[in-house]
Parts: sequence; C-alpha cells; structure tokens
Amino acid sequence: MAEFSIIDTYFNRKSSHSVDLGVGDDSALLTPPPQQQLVICADTLVAGRHFPLNTSPHAIGWKSVAVNLSDIAAMGAKPQSILLALSLPQIDHDWLKGFSQGLYDCCDQFGVSLIGGDTTQSPHLTISVTALGWVDIGQAVTRATAQVGDLICVSGTVGDAAFALQHLGHPLQRRLDYPTPRCELGQALKGLAHSMIDVSDGLAQDLSHILKASHVGATLQLDQLPINSTLQDLTREQQWQYALAGGDDYELCFTISPQNYEKLLQQQNHSSIKVIGKIDAESGLRFQQNGLDHSLQFTGYQHFA
Ligand code: ADP
Ligand code: MG
Repeated sequence: MAEFSIIDTYFNRKSSHSVDLGVGDDSALLTPPPQQQLVICADTLVAGRHFPLNTSPHAIGWKSVAVNLSDIAAMGAKPQSILLALSLPQIDHDWLKGFSQGLYDCCDQFGVSLIGGDTTQSPHLTISVTALGWVDIGQAVTRATAQVGDLICVSGTVGDAAFALQHLGHPLQRRLDYPTPRCELGQALKGLAHSMIDVSDGLAQDLSHILKASHVGATLQLDQLPINSTLQDLTREQQWQYALAGGDDYELCFTISPQNYEKLLQQQNHSSIKVIGKIDAESGLRFQQNGLDHSLQFTGYQHFA
C-alpha cells in the first residue's frame, strides 16, 4: 500500500507534453511523431557513489533527470519523457518531497514528462532514470563519424564539478549539484556536427571514445581549454587536470567541419562554445601548448577501477 501512496503523492503529476497515457497503468503510451526515431538511454545514481550522502534531495532529483537529458542532447535529439525506478531504504516524506520537486523542476525546465517507473525498498538509495526523446530518422549525431580536419569543440567550462566535489561548499558546487543539460545546443548541432558526446567521465576520456569509434586521433591545445574563472588561482597544470580528467560537467564535446562551425556561430551564442583542437588521421590523443607538444598523465573516472 505504501508504494501506491508514494507514487500518488509524489510522482503522479499530470503530464502535459503529448503523452497518451502516463503514470497509473501497466505501461505508458506515446505516439511517435512522423518520421522520427526513438532515442532512449538510462543512467543510475547510487547514493555515496554518484553524489555525496549529504546532497540535498532537491539536487538529487534534478541531477537524476539532467544526466539523462544530457545523453539525449548528445545525440542531437529532443527529450520527451522519463521513467523513474526508485529504490528507497525507508519512506522519508521530507526527502521524497524535495526529491520529487527537484525532479519535476528539471522536467519542467526542459519540457519533459514523467510517464512511469517503479518504486521498491532496498538497503541502498538508488535512482535509475530512463529518458526518451525523438530525432529525425537518420539524423542522430553519434560518436563514430568524426572526420579528419574537424574542429573539436566543447560547450561551457570543464573541470568545475570535479573541483567542487573536492571543495564542497565552494560556489562551484552548483555546477556539481545542478548540471545543465545542453538540450538546445545538442539539437542545434543536428545536421552540423559530425560526432558528439556529453562530458560525464572527463573530457579526455570522453573525447577518446569519439576517437576510437571514429578511427581517428586528435591534438588538443591546452591553452584553449575552457576553465572557470574561479579556478584561475590554481597552477596551469592543476587547471588542465580538472578540465581533462574531471567528470560530471555534462557539457557537450563535438567535432564539426570548419564550414559548419561558421554556420553554427551564426545561430548560437558562441561565447559558450570553444574550439579546443583538431581531429587528425594519426590515432591517439596529443596535447600542445603554444604550438609545442606537451605530455600529460591523467585518467578519467572508472566505475570498476
Ligand atoms: P506494476 O505492478 O504493473 O508494475 P506498479 O505498481 O509498479 O505497476 O506501478 C503503478 C504505476 O505507477 C505504473 O504506471 C508505474 O509506471 C507507475 N510508477 C511506479 N513507480 C513510479 C515512480 N517512482 N515514478 C513514476 N511512476 C511510477
Ligand atoms: Mg512494478
């Protein structure tokens, strides 16, 4: 009984965005828009592993949606709805109130509906969200089609969330707790970018996924990495470490031809997009500073390391 009262109280808001049947039946129903492909992804947040245990429930609710919308954005797709699988150690109404508010705040900001899920009891607080979106058939931007000569670009600033995780209470903690999925930029890059990924595990590691999938290499200009101005007192090496190895920023990294980059600048606020390097034929990831090769050692986040 408790399960149904939790669902009714916290997760049964009427959905407004073209959902035929939402929470309350055995499954939800959606009508695919004509000529669109379904884009679908899932991401799980485990308390103490993906967020510090004392993170506010509102932030946890926001982030559990945002990280999934970021994956939809990274395909160049428009997000539509989410499913929520929630495992709770106990029923804590204050927590559920804050969590559901954060979740709906993120949904509302990006025009997304909660259309179903599952609620269970378990010793560990675990939140698993599945997101669904749509993209014109054949137009999704994947990791596998970067081309030699492409510019490598990144949105926003990188390294903020990793720095905040080590300095809880710093103003950058907002970037860790309330990441902004780049939904508009992702959709604007459909038809322009050759490849794209969202930065969840660290820029160097995430970019390497593009390089591997596309059978190409890259050279990055360290001086061009977009670093938050609040990190300017760190040494340059420290800033590069955060920018390249820090996870959880949920910015978009994409590769684009120089001609299409010009087109993008005409449509978008370009202060939020930075060119950081170039795709080359030789495999691997290289770094340069002031035009000279520069070697760096670092790793991205690995779950089973
Ligand atoms: P069933 O037993 O048929 O799987 P449930 O009793 O698990 O159905 O869920 C009842 C309804 O509530 C379903 O529509 C399901 O999608 C929805 N639901 C369950 N948990 C959640 C949740 N945490 N958030 C949103 N919807 C949920
Ligand atoms: Mg069920």
